[in-house]
Amino acid sequence: MSPDKNLNEPKKLDTSSIKTTTLLSFLMYAMILVAFLWVLTSFFLDTYYQKMRTQEVIRTADAVEAQYLKGSTGFDKYVVETAEINGIYIQIKNFEETLEYNGSGISPEKAGFADDITRIDSRLAASDTDSVAETRHTGSSDSEARLVYASRIGSGHDTASLYIISPLYPDQITIRIVKNMLGYITFILLSIACFLAYALSRRITSPIENLTRSATELSQGNYNVRFDGAAFTETKELARALNKASYEMERTDFYQREILANVSHDLKTPLTMIRSYAEKIIDISGDNPEKRNADLQIIISETERLNRLVTDMLSVSNLQSNNVEMHREVFDLAEAAEDVYESFMVLGSSQGYEVHFHPCKPAYVMGDRSRIMQVMTNFVSNAVKYSGDNKFIDIKLVKSNKKVTFHCIDHGVGIPSDEQSHVWDKYYRTSANHERDIEGTGLGLAISKSILNLHSAKYGVKSEEGKGSDFWFEMDTVRKPSPKNKNGKDKADEQIQSDTEK
Ligand code: ADP
Repeated sequence: MSPDKNLNEPKKLDTSSIKTTTLLSFLMYAMILVAFLWVLTSFFLDTYYQKMRTQEVIRTADAVEAQYLKGSTGFDKYVVETAEINGIYIQIKNFEETLEYNGSGISPEKAGFADDITRIDSRLAASDTDSVAETRHTGSSDSEARLVYASRIGSGHDTASLYIISPLYPDQITIRIVKNMLGYITFILLSIACFLAYALSRRITSPIENLTRSATELSQGNYNVRFDGAAFTETKELARALNKASYEMERTDFYQREILANVSHDLKTPLTMIRSYAEKIIDISGDNPEKRNADLQIIISETERLNRLVTDMLSVSNLQSNNVEMHREVFDLAEAAEDVYESFMVLGSSQGYEVHFHPCKPAYVMGDRSRIMQVMTNFVSNAVKYSGDNKFIDIKLVKSNKKVTFHCIDHGVGIPSDEQSHVWDKYYRTSANHERDIEGTGLGLAISKSILNLHSAKYGVKSEEGKGSDFWFEMDTVRKPSPKNKNGKDKADEQIQSDTEK
């Protein structure tokens, strides 16, 4: 199924989408909150109310006592107001009089407040404390309970008793108000949850949807598409990674096309030559042995070129799939490099190249000597090919700290910095190289890279366009091998041969 088909499908409710999940989570959270509030109100409102009311009565009693003891003139007014505000019945009894203030809205006679006071009075008389309180249930339910409180005020002749009776249940209006409020709170909470869920999910999903749209465009080959991660750090990072991936894809696509063009060109040129010279032999030079032989020689050399290309292709593919036999041994890299140098000395005399060798002390390394020589030969033959008019080439060995580094330095065309990492890729040939039409397969460095990787060697190139290049690799040095045994075989060699990798 194509990605656009998915995007264009009619939208069903997708329970695993961020939008639905956020909406459901918020709604669930709000509903749990509301349910909790309703349970609290329904089951604990009475108990909570009673507790609060009792504390309130005790506080009021303390305040009334303090006012009474002060003997202020406004005492009566204060107690009337206190009884009214708190909806309670207050009685103060001293040697001279009994004062009653009823703000409870209940008739003391009908409710039997006198009995309550007699009972609590006898409890206060029997108690060591200055105040007592009890809850009286006058009916079958909690809603008919009331708190009866008594305390002694003052001492000696001025002693008085304070009684407070307070209903311990919220009145119906209060209950209705609370329930009404809860209804509103429920509605507000659910609305806020829906709004927040919608806003949040839109904020989160809109950058993701943008990224998906851009990714779809990219999958259709539009490399100019930009990924925008909006305000979130995570989506911004994703967008940055996708922008990088898109850039790399564009580059890879470009290089693949380049490579294909190069390979086709390299295969086509010798084939065209072979065909042309074969036709020439048939039409023109067939009867002239001298000319025919010259033409046949060209056909042979073009066939050899084709053969080299195909051999290199096979070689790189075998090396990259690790399908090669390595003959590891301990050998002196300095000596091997000198052998390579000597094989290029001929060029010096014949074609005017100046190849300089800067050896180091013997540097023993473990590896396949002939393959490492193949790498060095490739570096030097490239230096020869790409050295341009400046025909100075330096082969240098540097030994330090259990490492030995081989450098092949030329002062030729150099490699543009953005192409340097690609020269190690299969079939890659730099743009400048193509313009000059220098013969090559674009496989030499890919083969070298595979060989060096098999030796776990470091390698690289330092190059500046127009100034030259320094191709190098570095290997670990090992101890000098022990002298040969009586069969003329190196002991270390024997050991190494048995370890030879397939
Ligand atoms: P080729 O057969 O084309 O030389 P290589 O794999 O050996 O293939 O090299 C790949 C490309 O790297 C070359 O085509 C060339 O463009 C570039 N290159 C390699 N060595 C040098 C060098 N010493 N100077 C400049 N360019 C080089």
